[in-house]
Amino acid sequence: MLHDDSIDREPQNSLFGKSLAVFHEAADLIDLGPRIRLELEQPDYEHIFYITTKLDDRLKPMTQDEGKAYGSLRPSELPDSVFIPLLGGDLVMKREALRGATMTWQDGVVHLAGRGLFRMQPGGHVRLKAYRVQHNQARGPYKGGLRYHKDVSLDLFNMLAAEMTWKTAIAGVPFGGAKGGIRMDPRAYTNGELETISLRYMYRLKQLVGTNVDIPAPDVGTNSEVMAWLLRQYSDGERERHAMRGVVTGKDVQIGGSQGRVKATGQGVAYCIEDWYDARGLTLRGQRFTVQGFGNVGGAAAEILCAMGAICVAVQDADGAVFNPAGINVEELTRYVHKNPKNLPRSVLGFGAAQQLSRDDFWAVESDICVPAALGNAIDGPTAERLTCKLVAEGANGPTTREGEAVLARRGIEVIPDIIANAGGVTVSYYEWVQNKRMEHWTEAEVNARLERAIKSNYRVIRDIAEDNPRRSEEHDSSGFTVGARVPIRVAAMVLALRRISAHYMLEGFSQ
Ligand code: NAD
Repeated sequence: MLHDDSIDREPQNSLFGKSLAVFHEAADLIDLGPRIRLELEQPDYEHIFYITTKLDDRLKPMTQDEGKAYGSLRPSELPDSVFIPLLGGDLVMKREALRGATMTWQDGVVHLAGRGLFRMQPGGHVRLKAYRVQHNQARGPYKGGLRYHKDVSLDLFNMLAAEMTWKTAIAGVPFGGAKGGIRMDPRAYTNGELETISLRYMYRLKQLVGTNVDIPAPDVGTNSEVMAWLLRQYSDGERERHAMRGVVTGKDVQIGGSQGRVKATGQGVAYCIEDWYDARGLTLRGQRFTVQGFGNVGGAAAEILCAMGAICVAVQDADGAVFNPAGINVEELTRYVHKNPKNLPRSVLGFGAAQQLSRDDFWAVESDICVPAALGNAIDGPTAERLTCKLVAEGANGPTTREGEAVLARRGIEVIPDIIANAGGVTVSYYEWVQNKRMEHWTEAEVNARLERAIKSNYRVIRDIAEDNPRRSEEHDSSGFTVGARVPIRVAAMVLALRRISAHYMLEGFSQ
């Protein structure tokens, strides 16, 4: 092949480069055309841009040493509702709630009754680094989530955007792949600041996205509220703004979101697990599971698996882990984590109806199923050695490392790969987009029935490819996808993606 490796190939040691190993394996197996391979092993566009914003004044907690000079400062009594608590103990005061308040200040220092001494730090400005990677659009508009997190990078978004290309193909929805976001910890900002940051993000992105061009959705650190801000910014002042609702998915149902979207990714994870048991003539009743990450995906998956009769025995998040061999009441845990304003880190830590567990020991809890639903690379070699389960269902993107995968294979622990296990979110995002285009509103039962059919039939095609068992049933058709030999399940999923994507290049050809 005539091309210069040093120019157009992603370095092998980058996250993106490493993530392409399965792509190349599957591409070799199906003898993917060389030009299609070149198209897919790089993103179409990598956008990096910057967002500036003004921050509110913050009250910074003082150390004992710093506070020595203010021992005689009279405590100011203020209701909790005056403060917006932020990560690290900072407080922002709501101006309107302060009207009529009595406060005693000295050199910009205040003693808040019951909280201690704080020094006022003027707001100032910040500059944040923002990204949007558009990987491929052979099958339709770019589609992928927005992540607000402190550890994001171009390399990470390249990897995640490519994964969206594979995932939309596997889910059989007419989209390509994209991903983006902002490097920051959203917990360190007030809601008002997050709103201006998100508006500014869309202000910069407006030229690059659109209902039929690129459609963002929520991911780690973003939610339906962020999508509403983005929609407002994108469509502000436009005469046909009602026709632009489909520019983002994952919206609140009251402004054009789909029923079932919030839980869709977790619902898809649960449907895959149910089908895995179904294929063995078993049900989920009494199966014990652990879940890493108790956010949108992990929380919903846990709730739905419990409703299907499974038992949640341990949950781990960024701050800790909880364990109850008799079963954690997931509804109660959800209330504790997500509906308790005092639980600022939205953490499972401190949940009363379970034992606290070290984050590390979480992995060794006796279980049948493990659902990693937090960040990437959670299950590495040593972690995989400790797992006791029969099945790992990947709710998160890329939670298993190559070493972890080898250990799981050696130990006979099966995997439902992320690109099918967590495809429920993008599948229902597609339903939302269709409903927006048609100005329709489907019921949750309708959405879930479609999702169940779509996820289970695509998962069965993948299993058939893995087992080299081409079949046609009422529900699915894997003939034309198998490769004439058994292949690992993750490679099988990639084979399905590449066959569906390459059909577009082969039938439509290339524009010169
Ligand atoms: P979220 O922000 O709602 O929740 C993330 C959870 O992970 C939180 O409970 C957090 O405490 C936990 N977490 C973060 N860092 C951790 C660490 N180091 N160790 C343990 N736990 C940690 O995010 P989400 O939307 O639930 O997404 C979770 C994963 O699922 C991500 O990998 C995301 O890319 C993937 N995903 C999300 C969707 C979706 O629709 N939201 C769709 C497909 C894939």
